[in-house]
Amino acid sequence: MIAIIAILAGMLLPALNNARATALRTGCINNLKQLALSSANYSDSFDGIVVAVDGDGSAKKPLWGATLSTNGFLSKKGVNGDGNSFRPPEMNCPAETKTKCYVLTYSTYNYAMNLKIGYLTSEPFRRNQVKNPTSMHEMLCWKIPWHYSTWTQMNKYSPINIPRHLPNFTLSYMDGHVGTIQFSFIPTSTDNVFWSGK
Ligand SMILES: [Zn+2]
Repeated sequence: MIAIIAILAGMLLPALNNARATALRTGCINNLKQLALSSANYSDSFDGIVVAVDGDGSAKKPLWGATLSTNGFLSKKGVNGDGNSFRPPEMNCPAETKTKCYVLTYSTYNYAMNLKIGYLTSEPFRRNQVKNPTSMHEMLCWKIPWHYSTWTQMNKYSPINIPRHLPNFTLSYMDGHVGTIQFSFIPTSTDNVFWSGK
């Protein structure tokens, strides 16, 4: 009897784990849809400029999530019940159990933005510069254990880039559509349309 239960459990657990992984990935993709919409709304309000990827976290050069949040383009609801705008639920991948995103702190970001979009607010990058918005990625979900967590730089730091939804990264593109991509399919050259949109 116990053996039969063990066999049944052995058959059932992988299926449950798969279902769980699928649910987490779906939640993450929904976040990416929200983030893509948030970024598009930001551009609509700021003369087509795409939110700058990253500065140094200071008031003059805020991180992209902080810019979206403080300008009202992310949810105001705090995921930890803190009631402020700094922990927007859509910035937190449901598969991430340890690090909740606090948009002011780069070490906590669950999602990274394409560095080619524009590094600093002093180098504005406009949506109309993107020739191929369906192929250029905007944001993706990854695990990265250091402070470049807010930018995608796969070409340069590939050994430590870890998809949170193995074996795939979940991501959004400049036209707002979302999907998944395997690490091996990410082009290493930043001249590629995936990075530059050209
Ligand atoms: Zn995710």
